[in-house]
Amino acid sequence: MYTLTNPATGELVEEIENSTDDEVRDAIERVHRGYAGWRRRTVEERARVVARAAELFAERSDELAEIMTLEMGKRINEGRGEVGVVVDIFNYYAENGPALLADEPLQLASGPAVIVKQPIGALLGVMPWNFPCYQVARFVAPNLVLGNTILLKHASICPRSAAAIERILHDAGVPEDAYVNIYASSRQVPAILADPRIQGVSLTGSEPAGISVATEAGKHLKKTVLELGGSDPLIVLDTDDLDATVKATATARMRNCGQSCNAPKRMIVLGELYDDFVDRMSKHVADFYQPGDPADPATKLPPLASTSAADEVAGQIEKAIRQGATLRAGGHRIERPGAYLEATVLTDVTPEMDAYYEEIFGPVVTVFRAEDEQEAIDLANDSPFGLGASVWGTDPERLRRVAEQLEAGMVYLNRAGGSVADLPFGGIKRSGIGRELGAAGIEEFMNRKAIRL
Ligand code: NDP
Repeated sequence: MYTLTNPATGELVEEIENSTDDEVRDAIERVHRGYAGWRRRTVEERARVVARAAELFAERSDELAEIMTLEMGKRINEGRGEVGVVVDIFNYYAENGPALLADEPLQLASGPAVIVKQPIGALLGVMPWNFPCYQVARFVAPNLVLGNTILLKHASICPRSAAAIERILHDAGVPEDAYVNIYASSRQVPAILADPRIQGVSLTGSEPAGISVATEAGKHLKKTVLELGGSDPLIVLDTDDLDATVKATATARMRNCGQSCNAPKRMIVLGELYDDFVDRMSKHVADFYQPGDPADPATKLPPLASTSAADEVAGQIEKAIRQGATLRAGGHRIERPGAYLEATVLTDVTPEMDAYYEEIFGPVVTVFRAEDEQEAIDLANDSPFGLGASVWGTDPERLRRVAEQLEAGMVYLNRAGGSVADLPFGGIKRSGIGRELGAAGIEEFMNRKAIRL
């Protein structure tokens, strides 16, 4: 069942039955047949359709933001910001697609050859609720320009985002059989992956979902791209404005109510700054992040995406405290309807505690102390994840030196989190496999066909 519950009130808004197995099979046939026509169009034609989709996303930004606010509690302004990034992504692939897909001539020792860049077929996308439009865009925009077709299974709490995105793409001129939304359950995913008409899968979401999808895809030798969790470190080496650093790093952590895979979840502060940083962070978080209606642009702390998500994060905090962590701010569910949780600061988290290695997907800042640069790097790398990382300080050479030693797919200097269309996004270790966005993002489901001339 796809269930839309307003996380700001707890009110059940809509329930949609799952697609039946027959409907899923029919959808697979559609995207399979749709591929034959879509791939035959020129890259320029497909790019024009994708450029039109960018325009429609921009025109319908308010509608999409309102849907996301209702479905998963995103602050309305953040929703508009998310759609802005989606527009950038569609424009990026529309503008750069033809050049990225141009033939690559090679001069081999034995004579000339050429790499021709071709699509591979119909793909499955399994998408999460935390950025309902952005996550879909980074999979869909490059693959549509490349010529692949898409079957999309969105998160079961986001049925209206799923439908609105499909409408935009069809209105933009993507053929009805080149992009098909299904309300499939996760139990139907293995059968989709087993179908020979599906050539690959991209999933963004939790580790268990990633493992399950990669296992099923592996059984049938299907290419997989996984964008999973993260517990990104943020190292503060030094600062000439501690208040500004505290506010900027808190903003990055609290974006999307802390439910971003590449939010800075572990802040590592060098010894001499640590006490001041923790005091100011605790005060700032407690004063600034007051709960409110996510539809009100003035709200600073919206609900989490669901009560189960809020309960889970509250449980992680409680367990960390029971295991010996120190609570510096917040820490509790807020007594009002909906999925609200106080903005929280934890310190003294040690490797013996679950919170040390787990991802905390909510408005929780965890601060660690490191005596020197090397200890900060070691702490940062002591994680099963390797998505993003960020380093803050005043000396560019030192920032760069530290960045190069971090086990992460992306490192940001004096900034944290976020995503832009032209920079590859993805992680190492348990954060996933493959890259999205930028030039790398169009290559994942591409046949780089080598032709010896
Ligand atoms: P899930 O990973 O469960 O959901 C993401 C998507 O995967 C949804 O479409 C979901 O479908 C689908 N899915 C779940 N299990 C399977 C499966 N076994 N086979 C196929 N598809 C599956 O995320 P949750 O919503 O449960 O969030 C839990 C945690 O996941 C968070 O706390 C966070 O750590 C992580 N997460 C990370 C995200 C990121 O951006 N990297 C995004 C969202 C979550 P359905 O909704 O129908 O269950």
